[in-house]
Amino acid sequence: MATDLFRDLPSVDRLLQDPYVARLLLEQPRDLVVQAAREALEAARVALRDGQANGVVAALPRAVEARLWAAIRPALAPVINATGVVIHTNLGRAPLSQDALAAARLAGEGYTNLEYDLGAGARGSRHALVTDLLRRLTGAEDALVVNNNAAAVLLALSALAQGREVVISRGQLVEIGGGFRIPDVMRQSGATLVEVGTTNRTYAADYEAAISDDTALLLRVHTSNFKQVGFTHTPSLDELVDVAVRHGLPVVDDLGSGSLLDTSRYGLGREPMVQESVAAGAALVTFSGDKLLGGPQAGIVVGRARDVTHLKKHPLTRAVRPDKLTFAALGATLVHYLRGEAETHVPVWRMISASLDALDARCRVLVPALPLPATVVEVSATVGGGSLPGETLPSRAVAIASSSPHRLAAALRTASTPVVARIEDDRLLLDLRTVLPEQDALLGQVLREALAPFVG
Ligand SMILES: *Cc1c(COP(=O)(O)O)cnc(C)c1O
Repeated sequence: MATDLFRDLPSVDRLLQDPYVARLLLEQPRDLVVQAAREALEAARVALRDGQANGVVAALPRAVEARLWAAIRPALAPVINATGVVIHTNLGRAPLSQDALAAARLAGEGYTNLEYDLGAGARGSRHALVTDLLRRLTGAEDALVVNNNAAAVLLALSALAQGREVVISRGQLVEIGGGFRIPDVMRQSGATLVEVGTTNRTYAADYEAAISDDTALLLRVHTSNFKQVGFTHTPSLDELVDVAVRHGLPVVDDLGSGSLLDTSRYGLGREPMVQESVAAGAALVTFSGDKLLGGPQAGIVVGRARDVTHLKKHPLTRAVRPDKLTFAALGATLVHYLRGEAETHVPVWRMISASLDALDARCRVLVPALPLPATVVEVSATVGGGSLPGETLPSRAVAIASSSPHRLAAALRTASTPVVARIEDDRLLLDLRTVLPEQDALLGQVLREALAPFVG
């Protein structure tokens, strides 16, 4: 009976002769079109076998085209973030500034002085490219950039504590997300974990009591994505440095996001600032390039010259070195801070500092352009990226009431430019705080297209 079932399916050759498919053959490599035709036929066979005969054969030419586009389109594509989570790790964290993009483009387009000292006409070091900027901005003696902050922490522990002990508070043995667990990283570096204090309370004296001849350093880890409330205590960095200095030990401070700007000026709590950790005497401070810094993915280490030099010489450094695009984008991002224009030029800070009036006005432009009834509602955005847990920023969203908000959300996710929204109380919410203002027109257009099938 199987032959009967598949009777109407054309052969690959016949399918390639279909005018619609033949047109694809004129524009695209033959083997890719043939492959797409084979896959489309196989999918049709499965559909027929499963009793879904309706229109399967007629839809074959379009199915070939869809499979062809899916194969040649880069899998990584732009998405509009309407979630209200500013630093959304799943959506690629920080969007880059125009200057950072331009710098990355220039660096990628041709050759650069990545490792060439133009003055001396000799080999240079990529690690020198952003050192001066980082020193000026943070007050540190030296700096090193690696691929991400996870690599920075692993490198710091490997270089300074392999085969020795690292003292850390029990309350800071955290999992950051994506499987990054401090105890695992510690083990990987070859350091031995010495936990002190209790889950909720750790004192400077606990660190002091745990120090032995085998102690390499004291580690402080920002708890980033969770918040302890109630009966808690953690020594200040000053206290920790005090203990460490008395024993001739370094303090390594993993800030996670870290910030060069004071988040409390934006109605948020205070995310630890890199400059303050340096000033407090941390030997090394590590933080991410693509969290609140608002730059490309990178791990930044700043601190004492002696300790940074130690890291630079470690063999792991070569394995975690960033490429030229990262250095270009990071350098341009740091210049925004140096020029005092981060708030207006770095997208993450533009989003955080956007006024409610501005967000409200943008929502009101969008609402009448939509094919479904929508309203402007008050919502709460978050910073995300493991910074400021539990803290929210008042925001404004376009709300679309629906009996099937999940279907609306799915339609938006699969639109020509995917839009990621959130659902609250059976409403689809599009929080404009995380939509780049330059994307508003595109967002309106995508919404009109994607929501059209739900009208009436
Ligand atoms: C986010 C984070 C990391 C990991 O940083 P990546 O840049 O994502 O590798 C490490 N430690 C803390 C405390 C963090 O918040």
